[in-house]
Parts: sequence; structure tokens; C-alpha cells
Amino acid sequence: MSDTIELSDGNSIIEISAPSADRYAALKLIDWWDHAKLRRAKVMVVGAGALGNEVLKNLALLGVGYIFLVDFDTVEAANLSRSVLYRAEDSGKRKVEVAAARLREINPDVRVATFHGDVTQALGQGVYRRMDVVIGCLDNRAARLAVNRACWRYGLPWIDGALDVLMGIARVFVPGQGACYECTMTEADYDLVNVRYRCPLLRADELQEGRQPTTPTSASLVAAWQVQEAIKLLHGLPVPAGKGIYINGYTHSTSLLTYTERADCFSHAQPRAVVTELPLGAAELTVGDFYQAIQPTLMAEGAENIALLPEQEIISRFYCPACDASTPVYRPYDTVMPDGATCPTCGAPRLPSILSRLPLSADSPAVAVPLPQLGVPPLGIVQVAARVQGAERIFWFELSADVPTCFAAWSE
Ligand SMILES: [Zn+2]
Ligand SMILES: [Zn+2]
Repeated sequence: MSDTIELSDGNSIIEISAPSADRYAALKLIDWWDHAKLRRAKVMVVGAGALGNEVLKNLALLGVGYIFLVDFDTVEAANLSRSVLYRAEDSGKRKVEVAAARLREINPDVRVATFHGDVTQALGQGVYRRMDVVIGCLDNRAARLAVNRACWRYGLPWIDGALDVLMGIARVFVPGQGACYECTMTEADYDLVNVRYRCPLLRADELQEGRQPTTPTSASLVAAWQVQEAIKLLHGLPVPAGKGIYINGYTHSTSLLTYTERADCFSHAQPRAVVTELPLGAAELTVGDFYQAIQPTLMAEGAENIALLPEQEIISRFYCPACDASTPVYRPYDTVMPDGATCPTCGAPRLPSILSRLPLSADSPAVAVPLPQLGVPPLGIVQVAARVQGAERIFWFELSADVPTCFAAWSE
């Protein structure tokens, strides 16, 4: 038995194995199984809780080559009843780091790069472009919506999982093939997402959304479906796109739910990103540097009225009517409100100027503002709007110099 494995650095290796010594021997008996494909596969797992643990365990057992794991949380005692990768002594450690170490024990073939942070704002979207499939192991709508919009923007399939005691659901979403996660959202769902974004004081309630009663058994069931659909996607086998596999442990039944594509769905309406890679990293980069770097691309198109479209609304300045004083801010709304509105001189509430587009020019008042201050993360993809031949066009610029740092663990 031999396999030619192409590695992500462009090299390839030939693996020759005796069935008795080959950990994948039983899998290779499956007639459509392509082990080399799995060794090359790049899978992002978002969330390292109960579902994430089961998904990761399965991916490692199967020998999926490259995993990118995202989670913002640390291990606590309550995780131990539902998380096969964590031990009592891991308490307080970052989930992504503990999980990555345990996966390497399960299968040293698997490379795991990690991101400890919030998937909705802090993860550089360039990560999505380098994946084959995303598996969502999330407990809230805001994170699901962020993953969905990114997957649709970059044309990436993703598989969502959700748990409710003995019931669970695994949903497969493939751009261009039917409904997406956002198509399934109701007005009430949007309200919950907006509460999370706009009212820090209400976040504690919203976070309760994630405190669903769950069992390790339903996590195993749903995660198994999710990984199985991912394996099928990686092999090019048919998957139930725009559908949900619903498992009811009380009635011993499963059913396939079909979602309807919604005409006013934002994820569906946004254009598919065409990304220009810039040889720059997010750290130390100012708005002025960025404007200089994108000039050649925009000039070649004859672009005018150029504006940066931040992922979140920006407060450009605060004005205090009592002091009649204006102070530049240039930070995302969420990171300064509500406390930042108080005038440090007189204590009165100040008025924020809120921007959803930041005009770019050589003499913009924001030229010296560092891009990270606007919320642009490492390997971020910055959206720029410009007028080209009388019509507005969107350009996407990736800060590609951050690739080696983000994926360092894949080449170890
Ligand atoms: Zn949709
Ligand atoms: Zn004042």
C-alpha cells in the first residue's frame, strides 16, 4: 500500500505502509476513501466545547491533515463531563492549546494551528480563504452568523451543529446550493444578535444562550454527523446542502429538514470576494500606509471616491457640547461605548460621530491611525468601496504577510 501525499509547503512524500502497521488500514478498505485527500485537507473548527471536542477527536482519528482551531475560552471543571480532550489539571488553560496538544497525542500526523479569540471580530478573514471546509461547534447566533457570512463571501462550505439535551441538529451549508444559515434566521434571532453587538450591559443574558443543557452523548451524535458530512464534502460526494439532519433522542427518530432560500438574505446578497493579496501585516500598518499600498490596484481601475468599509461601525470623534471640544477616536463602536462617551474634562456625555465608511485620501485625518485600532486583525481582509466608471465597486485587500505567523504550527 502506498500513498503520495502533497504537503501544504508544495513538497510531497510517498507513504508506504504494511496493513498491520498502518493506523488507517481499516479506512482504506472503503472503496471511495482517499487517504491522500484527507492528509491534504484543511478544516477549520470553530468552538472547542462539547461539540468541538467530539469533532476534533474524529478529525484526528481519521487523519485529517490540517486543522485550524478557533476558541476564546479556557478550560473549567464544568467542561470535564462533556470534553474528551480536557483533564482536571487543564483548568484555567486556553482550550485551543490543550486541545491541540491532545490531538497531537491521538495522531501525530495531524497539524493543528490555533486562534485564541473571538471568531466574530478578531479572526483574520484570510484564514477562511485557506480552508476546504468549516465545522461550526458554536453556542450562539452571532458567531454562527459571522461564520456564515464569511463562508458565503469566500465560497466555502460549512457544517453547523447544535445541541438541546437529547436532541440535536447538523446542518450543511454550501454556497451556491440552496439556503444558508442566515436564511434560517427569524426576526427574534436577529434581535438576539443585535443585543450582543450593541448592548454590552445585556451581554450576560445573551451569553446564557450558550448555557444549553447538553450531554456528551448528543454531542457525540451531532459531531459524528458533522464530521461525516465534512469527509463527504472533501471526497466530492453528495451532501444535503441547505438541509438539516435532525436527531431526536426521545423519539428515536431522525429527519432531514429542508430550509428555504430567503430572497432578502444578506449573506446571499453580498458579492463573492475577489481578494488582492498585499505583502503587508496588520501590526504597525496605518491607514495612510494602507492607502498607499492599494493605490496601484485602484488607479489601474480608474477608481474614485475611495472609502474603507470597516467590519464594525467606527466612532471617528467625540464632541462635548459643554466644553465645545472635539476629540478624534477612530475605534470600533463596541470597544468605546458606552463608557468612552463620558467627557474626561467635565463628566458630561459626549456625542459620537459614527462612520460606516471611512473616506480614504492622502490628506485624510485618519492617515496616522493604526489599522489594528480600527479592528483589523492579523491576516484581515479589508473591504474598500470605490466608484469605478460611475458605479460603486467593492475591492478586498488581504494583509497576507501575516500568513506564516497564523499557520506556523502547520509547518512544525
Ligand atoms: Zn442565505
Ligand atoms: Zn466636556
